[in-house]
Amino acid sequence: MNQTPLPAPAFAAALLEWYDQRDTPMPWRGSRDPYRIWLSEVMLQQTRIATVKDYYARFLTLFPTIEALAKASLDEVLKAWEGLGYYSRARNLHRLAQVVVNEREGQFPATPEALQQLPGIGRYTAAAIASIAFGARSAVLDGNVIRVLTRLMDLPDEIGSPRIEQQLWDLAEALLPAERCGDYNQALMDLGRLICVPRRPVCEQCPVQSFCAAFAKGTQHLRPVKKQKAPLPIVRAAAAVIRDAEGRLLLVQRPTEGLLGGLWMLPGGNCEDEEPAADCLRRVLQQTLNIEIIVGEEMAAITQNFTHFRLLLRAFACEWQSGTLPSTNNTAWAAEISQYSLGKADRQIITGLATWQPRLFADP
Ligand code: SF4
Repeated sequence: MNQTPLPAPAFAAALLEWYDQRDTPMPWRGSRDPYRIWLSEVMLQQTRIATVKDYYARFLTLFPTIEALAKASLDEVLKAWEGLGYYSRARNLHRLAQVVVNEREGQFPATPEALQQLPGIGRYTAAAIASIAFGARSAVLDGNVIRVLTRLMDLPDEIGSPRIEQQLWDLAEALLPAERCGDYNQALMDLGRLICVPRRPVCEQCPVQSFCAAFAKGTQHLRPVKKQKAPLPIVRAAAAVIRDAEGRLLLVQRPTEGLLGGLWMLPGGNCEDEEPAADCLRRVLQQTLNIEIIVGEEMAAITQNFTHFRLLLRAFACEWQSGTLPSTNNTAWAAEISQYSLGKADRQIITGLATWQPRLFADP
């Protein structure tokens, strides 16, 4: 076992006592079913508990077992995931369900090492499933746990380098108790999500305050030390709002792999360097759908931050001029928009169309 400056048994005991005394109204809590644990852990990545609760309940109603998830179409899974973001998580859930059902008779492996061989399962998720579902003695380390550990140790080093990450994994492992690792891991994660929160940690309610070096020095707001982020580059994109004679909206489906893969969108794409948005639309629709359009008035402009860039998407009322859509499954004239899984920006634009009014007078 690695050495830790903290008295590991006393620390774990304090954390577990707090965990046992708390009433934790989380729908996945108490389950030892690896399917449910896996689902909750994947949903909780990058997402707040309050948001996850509804999605988790709805997802389990639609796909109560891993077999049901494996049998569903990717479209159905993406639809159930719509609004949670980071859609590669949904695609990986679907892929993993098919692997576990088709190749492992529906049984999850019980060790972190074997779990990490499955699609979309990294070291953290593998350790969480293995410890909570199967009682394995495996440590977890995600953003929440990193925050707690760096504060406990009052770590002055910038996080993010492989060296510091390895130190934190070593510390997380050294702190693991001999028993009840699943409960301990959940307690540590709860502490990070509920008490040792990023901006205003609730130190006065913290069960491990007496072990916390940052609290003793008053430096908890300075930990963890993070690298300054460069401003996000802006990607300009344009989308076409095209209706047919029956008022149905033209949608196209994105390729399965890549950003927002498998979701539906208004036809369009990214603008080149100085390319005006209207020219971009005409070019992209000609290249991808083989149709000519007349670009009309701007209907909406949306910005959305992704991990590596900021999207500025402008949507225009367009008129079909000529051409024939390719005969593939990835275009649709949508009458019932709610049946299609859309990304946040497209959903916002389409929702706004209901109240959009054309300008009666030209801009001065
Ligand atoms: S005392 Fe405060 S900073 Fe330290 S672990 Fe607890 S909540 Fe976090």
